[in-house]
Amino acid sequence: MGSMFKARRKSSMEMTEKKIQSLEDPRTKYPQPPFVKQPQAVPGLASKMDPVPDHGEKTYKGTGRLTGRRALITGGDSGIGRAAAIAYAREGADVVIGYLPQEQSDADEVLALIEEAGRNGFGISGDITSESFCVELVAGAVKKLGGIDILVNNAGHQQAVDSLADISSEGFDMTIKTNIYAPFWITKAALPHLEPGSVIISTSSVQPYDPSENLFDYAQTKAANVAFVKSLAKQLGPKGIRVNGVAPGPVWTPLQTSGGQPQNAIEEFGKATPLGRPGQPAELASIYVQLADNSGSYATGQIYGAAGGSGHP
Ligand code: NAD
Ligand code: MG
Repeated sequence: MGSMFKARRKSSMEMTEKKIQSLEDPRTKYPQPPFVKQPQAVPGLASKMDPVPDHGEKTYKGTGRLTGRRALITGGDSGIGRAAAIAYAREGADVVIGYLPQEQSDADEVLALIEEAGRNGFGISGDITSESFCVELVAGAVKKLGGIDILVNNAGHQQAVDSLADISSEGFDMTIKTNIYAPFWITKAALPHLEPGSVIISTSSVQPYDPSENLFDYAQTKAANVAFVKSLAKQLGPKGIRVNGVAPGPVWTPLQTSGGQPQNAIEEFGKATPLGRPGQPAELASIYVQLADNSGSYATGQIYGAAGGSGHP
């Protein structure tokens, strides 16, 4: 009897020890500026960045929060979408990632990590500025996963241009097509498959709330993403489908180094935030998990910020 009690006490002490998390100073947890200039052609590869971003490859630990769920994540090869894909798989979900053909090597790394997590991962490459491809992407995801209950509209296009006078119609069109039309086409195709309890998550930005002067077209599209979330949440609430968004501040991803910022701004990227550095994609993953998890069931029509101390919401 005495020894059983002792054994029980030891295991509870061990559990307590495991629960202790050492404090991590958010200012110094990740690389700080200055960074080196590192131009890449659009869409850019995460593997070529210096330093290579942290998408949670070595750190994200799942606890089964999304076991058996089926997620489609656009732009899941790199950046914020990759962090969400890794986290979802480690939480027990099967995941389809969408990306451009030029990003196959980044995508392959993510698919290997999903398989390593013991889940099914599939890649579907193609250009979401085409409506017919958006329809194919959703149909392909439904086929591979046997359905969809998490849709993450995350792919995005951002090119900094100093003057409105220098934004070409082609450039404007590319930003609008990628950031506004594609989520519309993809969501429209996915809706018939979404049952009550399913979720839609959009990656917006701080840009709708505090737009940069050189992101005139992009900021407008990210404002449209906020309206998408707030309108669709009202439309789909009565159907039991939740719609939320994430508004990141500066995050270290290929979107930024491939023209999202001018190269001199890359050197100082994130310095102006109160934390003094850019966010890493891994630091946003748990927000995407929370918004997909059944435990977040009263959150719909919300925008969750993660911006290092400045910006809204
Ligand atoms: P990222 O470059 O890693 O991801 C963007 C992805 O979009 C690419 O990987 C690509 O696969 C996809 N994409 C772009 N054009 C496409 C097209 N025509 N067809 C198919 N896929 C296409 O960069 P990220 O920063 O992780 O971007 C993800 C989202 O985060 C974007 O919506 C972006 O607007 C938003 N965001 C980023 C930041 C930041 O500082 N990095 C801040 C706020 C919001
Ligand atoms: Mg990419």
